[in-house]
Amino acid sequence: MLTQITDSCFYMKGHVNIGYITKNGKGLLIDSGLDKGAAKRIIKILKENQLPLHYCIITHGHVDHYGGAKYLKNEMEIEFFSTKIESSFVQNPVLEPIYLWNGAMPIKELRNKFLEGEETDIFGFLNEGIQKIGPFTFEVMPFPGHSYGQIGILIDDVLFAADSYFGVDVLNKHKVPFIVDAKATIETLEKINDLDCLGALPGHGDFEAKFKSTIQANKKCHENILAFLLSSIEKEENGVYMEDLQTIFFQQYELSPANIGSWLLYRTSFTSYISTLIEKGLVSISIKDYKLWLQNTKIIEPRSS
Ligand SMILES: [Zn+2]
Repeated sequence: MLTQITDSCFYMKGHVNIGYITKNGKGLLIDSGLDKGAAKRIIKILKENQLPLHYCIITHGHVDHYGGAKYLKNEMEIEFFSTKIESSFVQNPVLEPIYLWNGAMPIKELRNKFLEGEETDIFGFLNEGIQKIGPFTFEVMPFPGHSYGQIGILIDDVLFAADSYFGVDVLNKHKVPFIVDAKATIETLEKINDLDCLGALPGHGDFEAKFKSTIQANKKCHENILAFLLSSIEKEENGVYMEDLQTIFFQQYELSPANIGSWLLYRTSFTSYISTLIEKGLVSISIKDYKLWLQNTKIIEPRSS
């Protein structure tokens, strides 16, 4: 189903929301869905509504946002655009299983359609600021945090926010959203919170004209996790092994991933929160007994007698 937001802006609701804008007989898609099935659905909906398609922006290189690109390109000869770094993942899909598997060649179990899509060539790179593709003029907003170079698209005063935030229901379901940088995630949320526009559509969740409370709920979620991890480290006077803290974290949030891939996604989020605590100078990291060791940096100076 196609939902209209403004004269020219639409979206197709699904597991991943797909944005669509039309102007002067041209069509621009924002993200392409998970796979061939999602791409077929996009083509069907556009045909039913007699709408054109010429271009597609990939907001970030996660399979649920670019997996349908290959099929769309074969069927419709459309041009794809993304940021330079996110294009790396669209053009070399094995990179996601590689980074999840600590940079080593990934085990077969990780080479599935949820973590590794079909490679698709990117026609052009998008930079921050006002950009033009055909008759479309829009603002590219860097939204790093959920991925390295994710972007949001502000067009006709509507924000297509990608996975910079999640709808409250989705947030509650996941408990711990996937992120690669906690500090950048929170800064991106603050940037969106300051934005004055007609409304925003996240990659997963509902379009909202009043989206600020959803942004605040997302921010609170990350801040709560950071506070929990910091207090867990502070509790241990001498420090804690990073892998033990990870277990405490999984237990606290009752994370029971169904497969290795999901476990690794949660581990990446966990590592991102730890990175932020280290970068903020609140936690130090070293090696003890062959393992990574985390300590609170609030060391009390011994009193001089
Ligand atoms: Zn994503």
